[in-house]
Amino acid sequence: MAQIIERGNDGFYHPKSEDDLIALIQHARDNKLKVRVRGSGHSSANASIYTGDFESPSQSNPNIDIYMDQMCGVTFDEANMLATVEAGCHIGHDLEDIAGVSTAHNSFMSRLQAKGWALPITGGIARQTIGGFLAMGSSGGSLTYSLLDALQHIRVVDGTGTVQEFNRDDNNLDDPFWAVGVSMGLLGIVTSVTFKCIETYNIKGQETTSRDDKCPVDCFGDGSSGRPSAAQFFKDTPYGRMMWWPQRGIEKIIVWEAERIPAEANFKPKPYQEFAPILGSTKPAQIAASLLFRLYGFINPPGPQGILQNIAAAVLKPLFPLIVNSFLASGMKGPQKFQDYWCDGVPMDDRIDYTLIPVKFSELWIPVDRTKEVFNKIRDHFRTHDITQVGTFTVEVYATPANNFWLSPAYQRDVIKYDMFWFAKNPGDPERDFYPQFWQLLDEFDYRPHWGKFLPGDVARLSSSYPRWDDFMALRDTMDPDQIFVTDYWRRHLGIEA
Ligand SMILES: Cc1cc2nc3c(=O)[nH]c(=O)nc-3n(C[C@H](O)[C@H](O)[C@H](O)COP(=O)(O)OP(=O)(O)OC[C@H]3O[C@@H](n4cnc5c(N)ncnc54)[C@H](O)[C@@H]3O)c2cc1C
Repeated sequence: MAQIIERGNDGFYHPKSEDDLIALIQHARDNKLKVRVRGSGHSSANASIYTGDFESPSQSNPNIDIYMDQMCGVTFDEANMLATVEAGCHIGHDLEDIAGVSTAHNSFMSRLQAKGWALPITGGIARQTIGGFLAMGSSGGSLTYSLLDALQHIRVVDGTGTVQEFNRDDNNLDDPFWAVGVSMGLLGIVTSVTFKCIETYNIKGQETTSRDDKCPVDCFGDGSSGRPSAAQFFKDTPYGRMMWWPQRGIEKIIVWEAERIPAEANFKPKPYQEFAPILGSTKPAQIAASLLFRLYGFINPPGPQGILQNIAAAVLKPLFPLIVNSFLASGMKGPQKFQDYWCDGVPMDDRIDYTLIPVKFSELWIPVDRTKEVFNKIRDHFRTHDITQVGTFTVEVYATPANNFWLSPAYQRDVIKYDMFWFAKNPGDPERDFYPQFWQLLDEFDYRPHWGKFLPGDVARLSSSYPRWDDFMALRDTMDPDQIFVTDYWRRHLGIEA
């Protein structure tokens, strides 16, 4: 039997090859252990990433947690404009890479850009690994472009230790390729994937901040001449995203929109700035925002506890809209125009320091023709509920086009995505105190939740929303018969029987 590699001091195994992975899987099967791979660790629930519910594995962890920082290679097929990337490669620079391997130069995007190539889109950040991003069906903000459309080929070591390869065939939607592409690490360890790339491009765009009733997009109505409905806005805008503050007294929407422009030699980027710069740096504003969220943490669900906190809340609550409005004031002076290289501009949130503003989410993907109804439903909820229930953070709204991956939340339908933010340092438990109100509120809209964010936990509801659910589970049985990838978290959320 092949020797397994040693566990690192950080508690992770760091394989260098598929052979290393095969040996680890064999060892797991022989000893009835669980195996999971960490990407960049950006998914909201730790237990969805690791073999257990911890921040990172320890030396004494009996199971096998893998970090693929030694499997980051990229190769190119020039003739066909194909790039094959190992699953541990970060899409962009992961500033918090625990292995310290990720740099601005070795990211997948940088290597493509150096060749004059590009991906059609990324997420709002690009720090994820290729394996982690695809596993959860993650996506950017566009009804025009999707990374999954560029995915051609997937290579996996399955739960029996066998290397399997899957090719895209748009004429055969029964092919396991369509299961493996979005599989939450349940069908095997993805070792590499191949993307069809495009010529590099730049983007230009603008951001507008306005009162929700004066927003250039008619989010709550059917739209009118020169003011599209939100559904129309997302259909017409190549790259779009909204940050919505629906709390009483704030009621603002920040609309970010961009389009492609040709990559010309004398191009001068003018980067988008998400926070107002002070002496050329957005850091002071980010620190101020971080302090504000920390100060107001106890006002978030479950709300102030005890007499002292209730007194403090009585003083601080009325100030909250004033403070947030002053943060948003500079954006209200007029649109911010920007232009950038695709790799720096499409992931518009990549310049945020997430150690200052750590965020957790639950994100619900809803058929795009329900957009107006959902906007109204959320607005009414925020209007009729106190900030101690609806919280002090924002709701992100963006969209994704339909695809054919069996367990993608955008399976065969264009979706609008409502992403409720939770400041990760708040004292409450978001799964218990915060998200259930939104899962219930939007239940009538036939949503499917983002796999990488907090899940409602209703197995019957989840399984019935995916027409190919049973096919996926049957494939899971054959690709991982010993359930080495099925942790307690996935067993509970997907109803997988032992
Ligand atoms: C600040 C922030 C911004 C975000 N923006 C977006 C966004 O714009 N759009 C969006 O859709 N999501 C977004 N997310 C969510 C995030 O992109 C997803 O949760 C994504 O899946 C995380 O990728 P990761 O590399 O961090 O993977 P991890 O979170 O570490 O892992 C994700 C899953 O993939 C599995 N996995 C990892 N690698 C492999 C592999 N090689 N083979 C098999 N399984 C594997 C893991 O076990 C885990 O189950 C954001 C999250 C944060 C914190």
